[in-house]
Amino acid sequence: MSSISENLKSIQNKIRLAEKRAFRAENSVALVAVSKFHPAESVIEAIKAGQFLFGENRVQEAAAKFDEIRAVGYQPNLHIIGSLQRNKVKEAVRIATCIESVDRIELIEEIEKQAAKINKTIEILFEIHTGEDSKAGFTSEEELENAIKLCSQGAFPHICPRGFMTMAPFTSDTSLIRKSFVTLRNLRDKFQQDYPSLKLSELSMGMSGDYEIAIEEGATIVRIGTAIFGERQG
Ligand SMILES: *Cc1c(COP(=O)(O)O)cnc(C)c1O
Repeated sequence: MSSISENLKSIQNKIRLAEKRAFRAENSVALVAVSKFHPAESVIEAIKAGQFLFGENRVQEAAAKFDEIRAVGYQPNLHIIGSLQRNKVKEAVRIATCIESVDRIELIEEIEKQAAKINKTIEILFEIHTGEDSKAGFTSEEELENAIKLCSQGAFPHICPRGFMTMAPFTSDTSLIRKSFVTLRNLRDKFQQDYPSLKLSELSMGMSGDYEIAIEEGATIVRIGTAIFGERQG
C-alpha cells in the first residue's frame, strides 16, 4: 500500500472515531483532500484509494493538474479553498464544484456571471474571519448578511450557497481554535434561522492539526492536506 492510501485510511478512521465521540452520525463529515503543491500523480493515487473530493487553493495550479487528471478519465470533484481574485473566477467556475473561499459580494457577482455563461450551477461557502491572525474571509457581518439576503432573494440563479468556511488561528492554544469553530457554528445557526429558504448546512472547518476539534464542534467538511500527502514545499 502506498503511504497516501495508508494516510487516507488512517484519517478516515480518525474522522469516524471523532464523529462517534461527538455523537454525530456516521459519515456526516466529508473529507476534502487538499492536494496543493502535490502533483497529479499523488491525486491519482488518492483516487485509486477511494478519495474523490479534493481541494486546491490556487486556480492556475488546480486547472493544470485537474485538466490532466480528467483527461486520463478520472472524475474527481474539486473545491477551491484559497482566496480568489476576480480575474481567476472564470477558470475556478469551470474546474470546481464548489468555491469555499467566497469573502465578498463582488466575487459572488462575478461567479454568477461566469457560471451563467457556461450554464453551470456552482456551490459556494461564505468564508468567515473568525481567528485573529487569519486575514481571509468576510470581516463585516453587514456585508455577509447582505450577500446572504441577495442569495435568498434569488439574485444569483447559478449559485447554490451551502454554508460557511473558516480557518482557525494558527496557535497551539486549543481553546482559541475551538472558539473560532464555535463562532462559525453560531453564525451558521443564526443565518439558517433567519433565512430558512436557504440550506446553509455545511461547516467547512478543520485542517491536519485541528480537524478532530472541528468535528466535535460540528464540522461537516474537513480540509486536510499535510496529513494525507505529506509536507509540501512553498
Ligand atoms: C492548505 C490548506 C488546508 C490544508 O492544510 P493542512 O494543514 O495541510 O491540512 C486547509 N484549508 C485551507 C484554506 C488551506 O489553504
